[in-house]
Amino acid sequence: TGTGLIASFGEMLIDFVPTVSGVSLAEAPGFLKAPGGAPANVAIAVARLGGKAAFVGKLGDDEFGHMLAGILKENGVRADGITFDQGARTALAFVTLRADGEREFMFYRNPSADMLLQPEELNLELIRSAKVFHYGSISLIVEPCRSAHLKAMEVAKEAGCLLSYDPNLRLPLWPSADEARKHILSIWEKADLIKVSDVELEFLTKSDKIDDASALSLWHPNLKLLLVTLGEQGCRYYTKNFKGSVDAFHVKTIDTTGAGDSFVGALLSKIVDDQTILEDESRLRDVLKFANACGAITTTQKGAIPALPKEEDALKLIKG
Ligand code: ADP
Repeated sequence: TGTGLIASFGEMLIDFVPTVSGVSLAEAPGFLKAPGGAPANVAIAVARLGGKAAFVGKLGDDEFGHMLAGILKENGVRADGITFDQGARTALAFVTLRADGEREFMFYRNPSADMLLQPEELNLELIRSAKVFHYGSISLIVEPCRSAHLKAMEVAKEAGCLLSYDPNLRLPLWPSADEARKHILSIWEKADLIKVSDVELEFLTKSDKIDDASALSLWHPNLKLLLVTLGEQGCRYYTKNFKGSVDAFHVKTIDTTGAGDSFVGALLSKIVDDQTILEDESRLRDVLKFANACGAITTTQKGAIPALPKEEDALKLIKG
C-alpha cells in the first residue's frame, strides 16, 4: 500500500436500510443506519488498507454530519477537507430492498449540505498535496457544488495529481438521462483513470452491448486506464497498449453495496506511489487481482463500510 495522499471528493450520507426486504422503510420492523456515499467509501477503503486518504466535501452542521465526520476520523481518514453548512442538513437516503434483491432509493436532498459546497470553501492546500484526486458525478448535478467540483479537478490537475473518476451514476437524482450523460461526458477527457460498471457503460454508450468496441468508444487520448467492472465476472481493463480481463473471486455474496468503491480504493492505494504500474500489464494485472479480491470481500457482509477489507484479508483470499 502506497504512502502518497489520495483525496476523494464528493458526497457522504446515511442510508436508512430496512432490516427486511420486500417492504418499504415505513413498513419495515426495523432499520439500520449505514453511512455511505461512494467517494467517502473510497477514502475509507484506502485507509483500511493502510493508505493515506482524505475526504473533501460538505456535511450539515447537524447530528448526522458530525457523526459522519467522526466515522471518517475513526477510520483514519483526514477530515480537514470537510466543511459544514450552517443551514442545510446532511444528505440522507431512504432505501427499499425489493424482493428481487435490488435497492430503491429516496433521497433527502432539498438541498442537502453536499450540494451547497462552494468553490471558495475548498481546502486547496490539501488537494494540491494529494498524489491522486478521485471523484464521482453526484456533485455535478447542481450548482454551486458543480463549480466546486470543476475547480477542485482543475487545481488537482495543475498540481500534477492523477485524476481518477468513477461516474457512480445515480440516475434518479438527475433531472434527465440526457443531462446526466452530458455532464458525465463533459469531464471525461480530464480523467487519467476511469472506472465504469457494466450498467454505466450501457448507459453512456446508449447500447446494451458490453464488449471491447463499446468500452473503447469511450476511450480518449489522455486516458491511461479504463476499467469496466462486471460484478461476479471480475473486470476488464484497457490502456493505450494492452487490454484484457481479470476474473473475480468466488465468495458467498450477501450485499454488493460498496464493492465498486472497495475495488477503486484498492487500485488507487496500489498505484499512488508508482504510476508506471499503469504501463506494465503484468504488474497491473496483479493490482487488479488485489482490487477484485477487495471488491469480493466487500460483498460478504451487509453494508459498505463495515465490509471493506484490510490488506491481510485480501491477501488471504488471493492465496486461497
Ligand atoms: P459497482 O459496485 O461499481 O457496480 P461491481 O459490482 O462490478 O462494481 O463490483 C466491483 C468489483 O467487485 C468487481 O469487479 C468484482 O471484482 C467484485 N465483485 C462485485 N460483486 C461480486 C460478486 N458477487 N462476487 C465476487 N466479486 C464481486
